[in-house]
Amino acid sequence: MGILDYVLLGLLHPTEFRSLVQYKLFFSHQRDITATQEHPDSGWDRETMQECWGYLDKTSRSFAAVIKQVDGDLARTICLFYLVLRGLDTIEDDMTLPDEQKQPLMRSFHKYLSQPGWTFTGSGPNEKDRDLLVHFHVVITELDILQPERKDIIVDIAEKMARGMADFAHQAATSKDPATKYVQTIEEFDLYCHYVAGLVGEGLSRLFAASKKEAPWVADQLVLSNSMGSLLQKTNILRDLAEDVEEGRYFWPKEIWGAQGFTELAELTDPKNEERGLWALSGMTLDALRHVTDALDYLTILKNQSVFNFCAIPAVMALATLDVCFMNPNVLRRNVKIRKGQAVQLIMKSTNPRDVAYICRDYCRSIHKKCNTADPYFMKLSVMCSRIEQWTEHHYPSIITIRPATEDGRSAQARIDTDPKDARLRIFNREMQIRKRVGGSKQINGTLESEKGVEEGLPKELYLAIIGGLLLTSLLGLAVVYGVLFVVGALDK
Ligand code: MG
Repeated sequence: MGILDYVLLGLLHPTEFRSLVQYKLFFSHQRDITATQEHPDSGWDRETMQECWGYLDKTSRSFAAVIKQVDGDLARTICLFYLVLRGLDTIEDDMTLPDEQKQPLMRSFHKYLSQPGWTFTGSGPNEKDRDLLVHFHVVITELDILQPERKDIIVDIAEKMARGMADFAHQAATSKDPATKYVQTIEEFDLYCHYVAGLVGEGLSRLFAASKKEAPWVADQLVLSNSMGSLLQKTNILRDLAEDVEEGRYFWPKEIWGAQGFTELAELTDPKNEERGLWALSGMTLDALRHVTDALDYLTILKNQSVFNFCAIPAVMALATLDVCFMNPNVLRRNVKIRKGQAVQLIMKSTNPRDVAYICRDYCRSIHKKCNTADPYFMKLSVMCSRIEQWTEHHYPSIITIRPATEDGRSAQARIDTDPKDARLRIFNREMQIRKRVGGSKQINGTLESEKGVEEGLPKELYLAIIGGLLLTSLLGLAVVYGVLFVVGALDK
């Protein structure tokens, strides 16, 4: 960003400008991987690892900063995992490589990871990450130094991913029917996203568990980790439409855009087709939002703060991207990104599952607000946004506000919003009354006081009604007995 960009940001988005300054001052350099005390974990004292960190900066503009902040040697492990997959992805994306060369290269890629000195110089001249493959031997050298268990995970994921990518690349390259160059169904799209991103989620979960920073069972949460990866991947695919179409890569599934009357994906980028293009974009947004609640579930099971940040930051960025792209015709013609000030605000706010859920909920509200009733996905999008809203309210009721701990020793406190009109307050107080009767309840900040009279009055009324009913029944009984005796004349004798 130039000085003019900063001035414009300060004028147009002052809160984001403030966040950017705060981020530069306090957040961006939390961990210095080059510091001497970090060398055993970061490997900065080795030239090969220094090169690897350098390639991470070059190839990953958004992930490099968050990877470096992960605790201990897990950051180095994730850096190598990222570079391995980036190398594989560079081969997959390279449209200058013929299928007969790409197929064996991808299917043997995992074996090269254990072949010292292996490099690849055949990438197209315009491949932005070709330099990484030209010097790939540094990654292989560093993989060899890694704990065997961690290297095995990386090799295993690379093998599975390469196999899936190769299958899709082969289908696209060899199909005689031009229509089959596209991913056809949403199911097929799910499978592709599983290969290229869901497996990253699986690999990371296994690495988190292997490093002992997360529980061993985190490695087994395959559905949740797959959703986390798919959410990020589908968001990127949605955002990169114009760029991918220009390069001849087609990831949007035909089931979604074909339903809007298109026969070729490139037709979406034609300004004449803008409205139908936006409906297709809605379909893609809906499909990406499908993974949000699983991703939020995944975040709730993490306990290490740096691991949490590493997973949560890309997730909220994805939601922000989905929001900025939704109903935005520019997506059909160029790459749309969130502002840098917005990105640092999200980085600073994404520190716990509750705040992350609220951020996601707010983006869903924004998407819902922009929904057009003429949109064929209007109802489904409304239901999907409500599902995310419901997840958030269920796990983190907005009635409870959290006052964070302070540096002078005051611990964090939960507080209930005491608006007596709020129906949730009545439900909460009733629940607290029941717990109080069975013992062991905790009163939260006097909120029981506000509704005490109302809540305690109910049982008394019930008792009075029962007693009144019994008295009335007894009186009626006596009257009936008296009446019978009077009729038969027994009272006269
Ligand atoms: Mg790719």
